[in-house]
Amino acid sequence: MLNSADARKKCKQCGTCLTRCPVIQASPGVARDLVGRLDAGQWVGEVLDRCTGCMSCDAFCPNDARPYALLIERYSERYIASGIPRVFQNAMPLRDGPNLWRSIEKWLTREEKRNLALWSAPPAGDEVLFLGCNQRLNPGIADTSLFRDLSVFTDPGCCCGEFYLRLGLVEEARAAAASLAGRFSELGIRKIIALCPACHNMIQNLAPSMLGVEFDVEVTSYVEWLALRVDRGEIVFSRRLEGTVTVQDPCHASGLGKKTIEEVRRLLGLIGLDTVEMETAGIEAECCGLSASLARYKLADVVRAGASRARQARRTRADFTCAWCNGCYLTMNMFRPFSPRMSPVYHLTELILLATGEKPVRKVPWRSLQLFAAALEATARDGFRFVSSSGE
Ligand code: SF4
Ligand code: SF4
Repeated sequence: MLNSADARKKCKQCGTCLTRCPVIQASPGVARDLVGRLDAGQWVGEVLDRCTGCMSCDAFCPNDARPYALLIERYSERYIASGIPRVFQNAMPLRDGPNLWRSIEKWLTREEKRNLALWSAPPAGDEVLFLGCNQRLNPGIADTSLFRDLSVFTDPGCCCGEFYLRLGLVEEARAAAASLAGRFSELGIRKIIALCPACHNMIQNLAPSMLGVEFDVEVTSYVEWLALRVDRGEIVFSRRLEGTVTVQDPCHASGLGKKTIEEVRRLLGLIGLDTVEMETAGIEAECCGLSASLARYKLADVVRAGASRARQARRTRADFTCAWCNGCYLTMNMFRPFSPRMSPVYHLTELILLATGEKPVRKVPWRSLQLFAAALEATARDGFRFVSSSGE
């Protein structure tokens, strides 16, 4: 069960969450009705089948009632009643047997494999740049001079539980989060610089509030860590990039708050790029497409959400698209070959590195296409046959 009862008690059934939702855009009366039915435990397809998982509703709620938890409660009931399509198990990093991480191994370079092995060793100090499962698919993001003063740590046997939680696998999410919290304690890790906004939001907000799992660590976004180093003169820019940039904010941005979102824009400004916002941005940003599959388990929903975001990025006519989440970065690079008029998609660290005079080693678009191939391979192997919560 989700620990959301206290937050839910704050709900005044005003409907603001679903009137402001960029996908549902319900009228106030309809929104109030939808929230009421969701709260009464009904499966409300008008919301649950269409939600793209951007989590902005949590930020829209004026009463901190966490409406997204209400959706997860209903997804959790669906999971207990019917299970999930077998192919979705491939996106579970802790799964025994084939999954995306094992599929992608054959495409990792020798350098990437060497780094992953090195970073899996217990760290020397109590402060680490933490790579979650998401970055293990594209570990080069951490292998830059920007992070040279940090111990990098990742653990292939651990996961923050975010994907499990959002699919409604609440007990699996709780077990994963508790295991990661235990691993940090065991290794004496007390401070984490999170390279993944999802890990950050899980450790800081979602695991304690929804799952009752507390992490005994201080967690900071790599964005704020980089901004501080720039302000102290420890990262020096030798060239201005000049031009405009549009930013894909991740779904977890709404949980991390405005400061991190603003620091992304400030850093981009410092390297010479003016931000041109998409139709929705910041805490209101729409999903890159990645989490849109969680509602109906349909690839078509991913394509629709991803194409919509690519269209919005294109309309800004910006010279660059910047993602500060590796998931958004890989997903938007997956869509870009089909949307050639969209500007090239860079990770924030790559743009900063360019401004320091270094050339980032970009693995995209190939890594994105390799992931797409791995997903197709998984679909052919496992298909959409449902596997129950007991694993049968
Ligand atoms: S969750 Fe918040 S925004 Fe949504 S109906 Fe309840 S009080 Fe209003
Ligand atoms: S998560 Fe996003 S798409 Fe889903 S209901 Fe909330 S605001 Fe709407």
